Amino acid sequence: MSLSPSELHEMTLASAKKALAAGDVSSRELVEAHLSRIDAMDGELNAFITRTADQALDAAKTADETRAKGGDLPPLLGLPVGLKDLLCAKGVKTTAGSRMLENFVAPYTATCVRKLVDEAGAISLGKLNLDEFAMGSSGENSFFGATKNPHAPDRVPGGSSSGSAAAVASDMVLAALGTDTGGSIRQPASHCGVVGLKPTYGRVSRYGVVAFASSLDQVGPVTKTVEDAALMLNAICGVDPFDATSLSETVPDFTQSLGRDIKGLRIGVPTEYFVEGIDPGVKRAVEAAIAKAKDAGAEIVEISLPHTKYAVGTYYIIAPAEASSNLARYDGVRYGHRAEGASELVEMYTRSRTEGFGEEVRRRIMIGVFALSSGYYDAYYGRACQVRTLIRRDFETAFENVDVIAAPVSPEPAFKIGERVDDPLKNYLSDILTIPLNLAGLPGMSIPCGADDQGLPVGLHLIGKPLDEATLIRVGDCLEKVLPPRPTVKGA
Ligand code: GLN
Repeated sequence: MSLSPSELHEMTLASAKKALAAGDVSSRELVEAHLSRIDAMDGELNAFITRTADQALDAAKTADETRAKGGDLPPLLGLPVGLKDLLCAKGVKTTAGSRMLENFVAPYTATCVRKLVDEAGAISLGKLNLDEFAMGSSGENSFFGATKNPHAPDRVPGGSSSGSAAAVASDMVLAALGTDTGGSIRQPASHCGVVGLKPTYGRVSRYGVVAFASSLDQVGPVTKTVEDAALMLNAICGVDPFDATSLSETVPDFTQSLGRDIKGLRIGVPTEYFVEGIDPGVKRAVEAAIAKAKDAGAEIVEISLPHTKYAVGTYYIIAPAEASSNLARYDGVRYGHRAEGASELVEMYTRSRTEGFGEEVRRRIMIGVFALSSGYYDAYYGRACQVRTLIRRDFETAFENVDVIAAPVSPEPAFKIGERVDDPLKNYLSDILTIPLNLAGLPGMSIPCGADDQGLPVGLHLIGKPLDEATLIRVGDCLEKVLPPRPTVKGA
């Protein structure tokens, strides 16, 4: 049986895995079909910063040879994926979307990449675009130019994992890795009509992930289906001696949560997440999805997360504070951009950092340094840490009574490219529904749940108890079957 290129790139990770196992397709054919899809689509979308076509074709050849030998095969052997360009892959450029790291070639591989590629056998087709140092919600803050939303090229795909969401939505890769510090997997997944899952803080090692805000950063999958998210999670989770914050709890087989019902499950709906100003189309799609959950036998319970309104303020102290110290390492001395012609050290530091960092990154560094400076530390950073605890307790209380929480991901659909570049505050405020989970360390997932009045994708937000990604997969997989299908993107 010979499959056409479009049949190949329209596959999911799971269906391609099956086709490989059945001998209906080779890894070389899969990789080639996706590389041509990238050639056809990415000129317009700009989802990739670096393509690694030659390495991918070599890896496909090896994968096909390994498969031919038979025996126990790695679970994702020969399947083409993409990596957010915040994740180090040895010998490949890792830019973090920044001029600062424009020519930085990673000397080692991130644990999540090692697990996905070296151990589970997936093949990376390249490094995906993002907001600089993962700071942003639109993809427009990349030194390498904005990524476009495959469903509406005049609109943003969301951010900061802009390239990951756009590449999966447009079938350029079967699945991708992103990172989520304040919503960067879930919000672009919602805007692009794909699945995005942020695991519990510590589930996936942060080793080799360019640091933004270390108490919040977490790696997770962007996929076409919930089943694919389970396959990706199986590959990347687990304790890592190189990351002291990684969790040693056992990692279940997440595919065991597929194909189950949700009868009797208690789903909490937080009043505070249907915020004032929420787009009516988003509200309608999310409410319809919650009604479907009820039809499927779940019990819908109204809950309250009273400190939600403080989440944006809290995050925008803690994240910039941590970022300002993480980014202190880019001093023009050891690696990264160095300004030319400086006559003394401080001038070299100042000019390297001014030239190397974009406007949003510099803004965050200044906020962070101010919040941490002596005399202000207690009033800002100390206070924010206290409020963070209150936000976490809101969830603890809610979860005494419910198994999972359902809400919108973003109060609005994808907005127009350029519309907000001069209004950072508006962008910060739109993170209101994703940030609280990061502050509390909880897992969360966005699954496609239809469209707004203009036909733009809307995501349903499922929020789980700590370490309970399994229930997110169970609910997401069950609902996916009764919700409108993920929107697809036609060929170029
Ligand atoms: N939009 C948020 C920010 O700009 C979240 C980013 C992220 O999760 N990396 O900080």
